[in-house]
Amino acid sequence: MDFPSRFGVIVVGGGHAGAEAALAAARMGVNTLLLTHNIETLGQMSCNPAIGGIGKSHLVKEVDALGGAMATATDKGGIQFRVLNSRKGPAVRATRAQADRVLYKAAMRHILENQPNLWLFQQPCDDLIVEQDQVRGVVTQMGVRFLCDAVVLTAGTFLGGLIHIGLEHYSGGRAGDPASINLAHRLRELPLRVGRLKTGTPPRIDSRSVDYSVMTEQPGDTPLPVMSFMGSVDQHPPQVSCWITHTNARTHEIIASNLDRSPMYSGVIEGIGPRYCPSIEDKIHRFADKDSHQVFLEPEGLTTHELYPNGISTSLPFDVQLQIVRSMRGLENAHILRPGYAIEYDYFNPQDLQYSLETKAIGGLFFAGQINGTTGYEEAAAQGLLAGANAALRAQGRDSWHPRRDEAYIGVLIDDLITLGTSEPYRMFTSRAEYRLILREDNADLRLTEKGRELGLVDDARWAAFERKREGIEREQQRLKTTWIQAGSPVAQAVEARFGAALQREYSLLNLLTRPEIDYAALVELTGEGVEDPQVAEQVEIQTKYAGYIDRQQDEIRRLQASENIRLPEDLEYSGIPGLSREIQHKLTQARPQTLGQASRIPGVTPAAISLLMIHLKKRS
Ligand code: FAD
Repeated sequence: MDFPSRFGVIVVGGGHAGAEAALAAARMGVNTLLLTHNIETLGQMSCNPAIGGIGKSHLVKEVDALGGAMATATDKGGIQFRVLNSRKGPAVRATRAQADRVLYKAAMRHILENQPNLWLFQQPCDDLIVEQDQVRGVVTQMGVRFLCDAVVLTAGTFLGGLIHIGLEHYSGGRAGDPASINLAHRLRELPLRVGRLKTGTPPRIDSRSVDYSVMTEQPGDTPLPVMSFMGSVDQHPPQVSCWITHTNARTHEIIASNLDRSPMYSGVIEGIGPRYCPSIEDKIHRFADKDSHQVFLEPEGLTTHELYPNGISTSLPFDVQLQIVRSMRGLENAHILRPGYAIEYDYFNPQDLQYSLETKAIGGLFFAGQINGTTGYEEAAAQGLLAGANAALRAQGRDSWHPRRDEAYIGVLIDDLITLGTSEPYRMFTSRAEYRLILREDNADLRLTEKGRELGLVDDARWAAFERKREGIEREQQRLKTTWIQAGSPVAQAVEARFGAALQREYSLLNLLTRPEIDYAALVELTGEGVEDPQVAEQVEIQTKYAGYIDRQQDEIRRLQASENIRLPEDLEYSGIPGLSREIQHKLTQARPQTLGQASRIPGVTPAAISLLMIHLKKRS
């Protein structure tokens, strides 16, 4: 049966990638269907109830700058906010929020249900309609056919999902949810490279069985941080603390003596797990010299006793999980609410994608999220937004868009995936970006909101707030540039009294702000004048203090851009290029980079090979 209406875009999966994809396409005015297993699990956090953190908050704020929902849902669901690396430079500062699962999901569902042009439908997608290498629609479990111009597939950990606890395993997309088996089979018929990855989660603990008196309390930050550029502290629910305990020699002994019952160490699990979110058995094995690891007990919400013990993800058998948990201080009598487990699932080699996240093999079929080999809600959301926007652009007959590496962490993420592929779950870090000082979380809106507006992703309210902020920054910078402090004036005397530095000559306020000891707040205190908007104040301060470094990075970007954007023809025969080694010819043929810049980032492709390519291209033209 064909559904009465045809859609521009169909998004399969209502996780973090799917939600942003569906919202993006609908914001751009395209009639969009979000087809998902279960409407109750829209925006569900499969693992830890936290959003943001180093590298990840940069993605969340970029999604927000492009009109996405993740940061807003975090502001409405966040029960503990912290700024990590707050004493370090602004490039690596990162906001992290512990979220109440129920509030987060409710916020996301509210946003989805109230989005014009977006329709929800609960049914598993079992099949894709593909004709002449073009996707034409999807078929649900009960045989309903939905037709469309583009499909965004965001099936997460569900494709061929296999849950492991000890040496037992069973089919599942995550605990309590069915796996996608029919769709996984269908995808394996398509000319796309498929592999298996795995990830794991810890057992959850009932807080009533925990002795907090022997643990260290970790409260959130004051003043309270905010995740969205449009957010405010007033949106936050009541805030709570986390608690810290540790593994010890006894814990490690229990794990070491049970490794033969671990599905990972006995060879039952073949998929590779996330390097930076290792299971506790991995940690004990890999860091054998460490006799203790920190474990954060994070509340799962305001209306539940459930705790998430961050740091002890495991797929050991349940009886061993119980011993591990009870070996730790304060957890001697702990009750486990849900066992930990690992899950293995299908993912697709992201090198088979274009920068728009459309598959190279099937026109109109886009992939986003964990299906592309990434791990994490934020990485999924970022891809979802990009894929949703590009699916909408395709439906509208417009050119695709993606940010470059020097414009956004989203650009770094996409370029890394497409250029390098991944054989283990990929997560974002600030160290993956070469232009960290430009790609800060605080300026994501200044980097992206204008583009988002042009694409149709940014609504009037966000655009008006953004323009106010941008004008506010310019106005304040101008005021600081043109306000002069004379030597001996009351302000000069106040500077001397406070910082012990006599002003020998006339200084503009902007000059004063470049001094390391004077921040914007001090300037306002000394002069009695300044802006109230903290976002404007933050930009004025960072842009002034880091101007030299920022300019240098921008020069470097301009220099590299010239060769970065040189396009490599799709039909380029690398084997016919004189001087290129067989190995490099093979790598380039496999990866089929779209630009010279992309080619230069393929491991093993040397600067000399890039010069040969440039010479060859010049000869061809
Ligand atoms: P998901 O959030 O998995 O959403 C997929 C959605 O698609 C679901 O709504 C599902 O119902 C729907 N769906 C699937 N197939 C179909 C179909 N055929 N038809 C209709 N709907 C369908 N991340 C970390 O960063 N660190 C970790 O340590 C970590 N551990 C994890 C442990 C476990 C056990 C699990 C399950 C996940 C873990 N994650 C971890 C991963 C994190 O949950 C994902 O990165 C993130 O949820 C990916 O978002 P997504 O939108 O791609 O997929």
